[in-house]
Amino acid sequence: MAAESAECSWCGRPARISLNTVGMLCDACWNSWMCDRTGRDPLPPPPPPERFVDPDGRPHVLAYRLTHGATGIDAELTEVDVEDGYIFRALADPHADPQRALDHVRESARREIGRQYLRRSPFTSEMTIADREVRGRIIWRSRDEMGVVVDGRQMTWNELGQAIQNEGWNFTITADEPVGLVNDYDPALMSESD
Ligand SMILES: [Zn+2]
Repeated sequence: MAAESAECSWCGRPARISLNTVGMLCDACWNSWMCDRTGRDPLPPPPPPERFVDPDGRPHVLAYRLTHGATGIDAELTEVDVEDGYIFRALADPHADPQRALDHVRESARREIGRQYLRRSPFTSEMTIADREVRGRIIWRSRDEMGVVVDGRQMTWNELGQAIQNEGWNFTITADEPVGLVNDYDPALMSESD
């Protein structure tokens, strides 16, 4: 992956995928290269960006990508104009209906943007855990500091710790792959490449 400002070597549109022998390619040219090379079916253009509203009434606009990846069909839905906002990814079987991968990321976005793990305390106006669970994504905030994104907001680990402090309570930490597998996707495919 490289900066979005690169141009596609074949068509000149914005390119985000680097291919050794060819240079930078846009998603559409990359997809047709993959179809030629692997015999996969052509993918439709991704749907236009979609707007989701969180429980606070904040709008979030997310853009779709749909690409043939080494291990299947990749759908991605990423918040635009935000440095580290919401990102949802799904992986479908290489020959699945691509709509299923798109439906998967749309459903994840509806579900996750539709709930809030943290809320502002009405008493202290500090962020506090809304229920008993917090889910988020680990990011690099800078070259030497990691942080998290919760409810589409960047936070430091320390800020997250302050939000969930409940002395004496137990907690569980589970780290998950950032990609949702579409229904009958065979995880064995993830360790192969074609
Ligand atoms: Zn292109």
